[in-house]
Amino acid sequence: VRVIHAEYAWLGGDEPAADVRIEIDDAGRFGAVTPGAPPDGAQRRPGLTLPGFANAHSHAFHRALRGRTHTDRGTFWTWRDRMYAVAAALEPDSYHRLARAVFAEMALAGITCVGEFHYLHHDPAGRPYADPNAMGEALIDAAGQAGIRITMLDTLYLTSGVDSAPLRGTQRRFGDGDLDGWSGRVAALKDRPHARIGAALHSVRAVGRDVVAPFAERTRGLPVHVHVSEQRAENEQCLAAHGRTPTELLDEAGLLRPGTTAVHATHLTGGDIAKLAATTVCLCPTTERDLADGIGPARALADAGSPLSLGSDSHAVIDPFEELRGLELHERLASQQRGRFAPGELLRAATNHGSLGWDDAGRIAPGARADLVTVRLDSVRTAGCAPAGALYAATAADVSGVVADGRDVVVDGRHTGIDAAAELRAAIA
Ligand SMILES: [Zn+2]
Repeated sequence: VRVIHAEYAWLGGDEPAADVRIEIDDAGRFGAVTPGAPPDGAQRRPGLTLPGFANAHSHAFHRALRGRTHTDRGTFWTWRDRMYAVAAALEPDSYHRLARAVFAEMALAGITCVGEFHYLHHDPAGRPYADPNAMGEALIDAAGQAGIRITMLDTLYLTSGVDSAPLRGTQRRFGDGDLDGWSGRVAALKDRPHARIGAALHSVRAVGRDVVAPFAERTRGLPVHVHVSEQRAENEQCLAAHGRTPTELLDEAGLLRPGTTAVHATHLTGGDIAKLAATTVCLCPTTERDLADGIGPARALADAGSPLSLGSDSHAVIDPFEELRGLELHERLASQQRGRFAPGELLRAATNHGSLGWDDAGRIAPGARADLVTVRLDSVRTAGCAPAGALYAATAADVSGVVADGRDVVVDGRHTGIDAAAELRAAIA
């Protein structure tokens, strides 16, 4: 048993507790958690200690585009062409190197579990590799090496538009032909201690209307994620082809249920918001602003009952503090009101491991997985902040320590096994 004495630790509510004694057992779970404990020689942890963050929406290879798409103007769709050019260049070995570095960057930011929305399956000609899951296995192994958990949201991707046009060019790497082809391949992926297999439906652009209901049937009981209404064009095309919004189409097919996460949910009608009430909604504020998607109705969704989660998606930045602040600050810009979300709500969204199928993580409480992230309160950014207020000022650079499943992954601001910056530079070059 290891014992940590946290200067401040967030145990729930809207304020951290002071002087918290935290036991971690040999199985990587929390034992007793005692606020107001006198110092007793336990390992002292200065700063603010939070539950580990969950990055609920990631496409690891998009990291290679960071800082390379800002010089020309252009739209989401021109950005997507660049993203396809990166996708065209990756093979299992090179994807493993890139993902290992990206997941190490996540660990450094305090992320202890990633939901990888994975659709880059096949070789550049669209043929399966000798192991048809070589790319997915590369991601699962990379997360293990980086010391974090992964939920493999293996993605059904069959068409290039709502008109069911066939996949073209790089998109051929994404497709499995039909639902049976996808199911057969994914069945060979197995859970392991740090990895859980879930599923994703790319979007109503990439899966025909008649396939959504059988997909919902086959994925019952799994965490299922789906991109919904990120761009107005998706809504317009779906309305033109099917006479209903993407949310209405998914609802009719039975996919909007507990265990499902709708990603983005930016352009919604009032009816859509009501239909999403049983579904988690994952916002990706830094990507949504980078891609000029718009501001989703986060407060209205939460009021309707949707649990919220957060993702770094395209990895324009990887910083959970930026995401959780973005949730609140985008709401402020849109509503011209402050205090739209309480600090505890922001932190709950940033630590929503349940949406990735890990219901036993995301809180500092007896029996839960021992994931911790500690933030300095003495950096130039956080010095003088009230402990709770550090959520509005800290960045990933202020993370001093990360523990995942009881193991140290980041110590003194450094990853214990990976030089993430050097590996990112090499992998992207
Ligand atoms: Zn995405």
